[in-house]
Amino acid sequence: MQLIFMGPPGAGKGTQAQVLAALWKIPHISTGDILRACVVAKTPLGLKAQAYMDAGDLVPDQLLMDIVQERMNQPDASSGWILDGFPRTVPQAAFFDKLLCDVSGAGGTSGKDCALRAVNLDVPDDILVARLLSRGRQDDNEETIRRRLQVYREQTEPLIAFYRAREQLVAVDGDRDMEVVTAELQQALSGDS
Ligand code: ADP
Repeated sequence: MQLIFMGPPGAGKGTQAQVLAALWKIPHISTGDILRACVVAKTPLGLKAQAYMDAGDLVPDQLLMDIVQERMNQPDASSGWILDGFPRTVPQAAFFDKLLCDVSGAGGTSGKDCALRAVNLDVPDDILVARLLSRGRQDDNEETIRRRLQVYREQTEPLIAFYRAREQLVAVDGDRDMEVVTAELQQALSGDS
């Protein structure tokens, strides 16, 4: 099971990824969580990333590529994972494609039979803003939220077409109760191995 969770900030990616990863006993890899841990620990990477995150901007691609490459090489990532928050740009997606090719050998992830699925959780903007404001994380003030939504539309939304063209997209309406969304994801993805 190789899953990418996409969707705007506040769509519920993290919540759903956590529940399903526990159920399927695969790691939940959240680049936002990894970055926040680096910020708290004041590592060189955290110090570089913090200003971008506080402004609602994306952290430069190269830093994310290094993080993901290292994480994917950990032993627990060998039999599957849910990747939450990556890829978020077209260059990140291209990089990830190549990384999976290198890991899995010939064929990579572009074939129809490959296990990779990209899940998009769709939620209207006004609901997203309300959800994020009530969450109250450090980067959840109204100005930063608007910026993150704009960045999402400009840089991340094009990935939906990218994965749809490869027949890897699973689109789910995220504007429903959490349990309903979980059940639909389970059903949509249960045919995968
Ligand atoms: P959300 O989806 O709620 O905005 P995340 O926890 O996924 O939150 O990410 C928080 C912040 O971390 C983003 O606003 C961005 O600055 C940074 N970040 C996370 N993943 C990436 C990524 N793949 N590329 C660039 N920046 C990222």
